Amino acid sequence: MRTPVIAGNWKMNKGPKEAAELINELKPLVKEARATVVVCVPAVSFAAAKTALRGSKIKLGAQNVHFKESGAFTGELSVAMLKEAGVEYVIIGHSERRQYFGETDETVNLRVRAAVAGGLTPIICVGEKKEQREAGYTDALVTYQTMIALSGLSADQIKKVIIAYEPVWAIGTGLTATDEQANETIGVIREAIRQKYGKRVSDKVRIQYGGSMNPKNVKGLMAQSEIDGGLIGGASLKAADFAQVVNFD
Ligand code: PEP
Repeated sequence: MRTPVIAGNWKMNKGPKEAAELINELKPLVKEARATVVVCVPAVSFAAAKTALRGSKIKLGAQNVHFKESGAFTGELSVAMLKEAGVEYVIIGHSERRQYFGETDETVNLRVRAAVAGGLTPIICVGEKKEQREAGYTDALVTYQTMIALSGLSADQIKKVIIAYEPVWAIGTGLTATDEQANETIGVIREAIRQKYGKRVSDKVRIQYGGSMNPKNVKGLMAQSEIDGGLIGGASLKAADFAQVVNFD
């Protein structure tokens, strides 16, 4: 009922030349994909990526966006700038931005609102740290993060966002949530959305799993009823690996 969405988060990897090479390698491998495929490339590689993506259904994504239209915000990029560069999706609130760059639930919400208002599809990241899971706070935390991130959006707008459940302890560590853990926590997020916005909204929202998803574990994760795709870091940097994740079925 929900089209799966597999997004690669290239992080601070692949300048323009390498970005074009990776996309050119990837294109033929994913051309039959049933999933929506997105590559979130570094901003410096937007133009090269856009050119390389010609003739393919792969979508261009960014890794962050600012909430103001323009002004004195050194190093930031606006929604309009991303759109002009051909970007359609944007990761917001990745745990690395929360951890290293002071991103908060409130700034995540501002960025989500700006992205949605400007016609970008946000991929909103939520997830718990190891100690929070061990202390039994996972459900409360992901519910809180999700509700703050979505506040101010209409039900129709919420239907179109993508949420990525990314347990922080599983990102870049090689550790993966079990299929059941990921499915259960994503179920908690969907239920929180249902309680506040209704089933017609919660049934539509696509919720990905992220955290060391790779060709080996993708099948089990994607077989879960609540998991609608993946946000992929490390395994998105090799065309063959990312293609195997994309072509999980
Ligand atoms: C990510 O950065 O969103 C991510 C899931 O990374 P990795 O797949 O490398 O754990």
